[in-house]
Amino acid sequence: MNLSTADPLPPGLYIVATPIGNLGDLSPRAAAVLAGVALIAAEDTRVTAKLLAHIGAGVPMTPYHDHNADAVRPGLVARATSHAVALVSDAGTPLISDPGFKLVRDCRAAGVNVVTVPGACAAIAALTLAGLPTDRFLFMGFLPAKAGARDTAIDEVANVRATLVFYESGPRTAVTLAALAARLGDRPAAVAREITKKFEEAVDGTLVSLAARYGTTPPRGEVVIVVGGPVVTPATAADLDAVLAAAMSRAPLSTAVAEVSAALGLPRSTVYARGLELRDAPNAENLAARQALQAGTSCWPQGEP
Ligand code: SAM
Repeated sequence: MNLSTADPLPPGLYIVATPIGNLGDLSPRAAAVLAGVALIAAEDTRVTAKLLAHIGAGVPMTPYHDHNADAVRPGLVARATSHAVALVSDAGTPLISDPGFKLVRDCRAAGVNVVTVPGACAAIAALTLAGLPTDRFLFMGFLPAKAGARDTAIDEVANVRATLVFYESGPRTAVTLAALAARLGDRPAAVAREITKKFEEAVDGTLVSLAARYGTTPPRGEVVIVVGGPVVTPATAADLDAVLAAAMSRAPLSTAVAEVSAALGLPRSTVYARGLELRDAPNAENLAARQALQAGTSCWPQGEP
């Protein structure tokens, strides 16, 4: 769809990305859509009012945020059946660690046309700065603030073979980096802050070195932490047993097998077969099997990969 201000916008919900700092990053299409809709649902109407002033648009706004979303959502869905309604957040792409997913879900369920106007997203921007692999990444958003829940969330992804992306605030950055280092090991990492703003900075290092740096001087402003995936070395039978036993102690067999085969790069069938052996063998037998494995007997059908 090619929209200009001259085109009347068809009814629907328009998900409009806005800049994460530099107003020059507002796309011409985003500006045209914001100027052309009947109503803008905004996370904070005061923030969006500044953006509208920047593009010279005067469009009615209504707040849509975590505290009123359930109450106002049905009205927005109804409005979007007959009018063009935009959803924006304070900065970046709506729905990405910001409100909007339930509004999109309900619009789709009601047969409302949903249109996206993509643009800035801090997670993607940070990945382009970090110098870490981008072929597989896992967006983690904000970690829980409480230590127990935070550590559980980190443990859940410890074996995922992907670059990890976390949102964080400046003051909490050092604590989060230290928790990541404690649970993931001293992996390569980068801290990107104030992206597209005057003091944009991307500092690379390791989790331990970055935790030390920002423990002394907390970074100012908004921060994205990017962490390299686990170092993958060829798995041995002993590795498989150790990792699989740990995974099976906290998750059902099928989940543990999926996690471990991804982490060690081994065929699921191989991991599953070993999982059944570990699960079903009596303790003594299990021990003997482990000792045999540690003595060098391979559990892989055609030898170790
Ligand atoms: N929806 C937004 C997006 O698309 O990136 C994210 C909103 S989330 C509530 C805010 C978090 O995004 C911040 O705490 C920070 O982690 C990250 N962020 C947003 N703008 C940023 C910037 N200019 N530089 C670094 N991080 C930023």
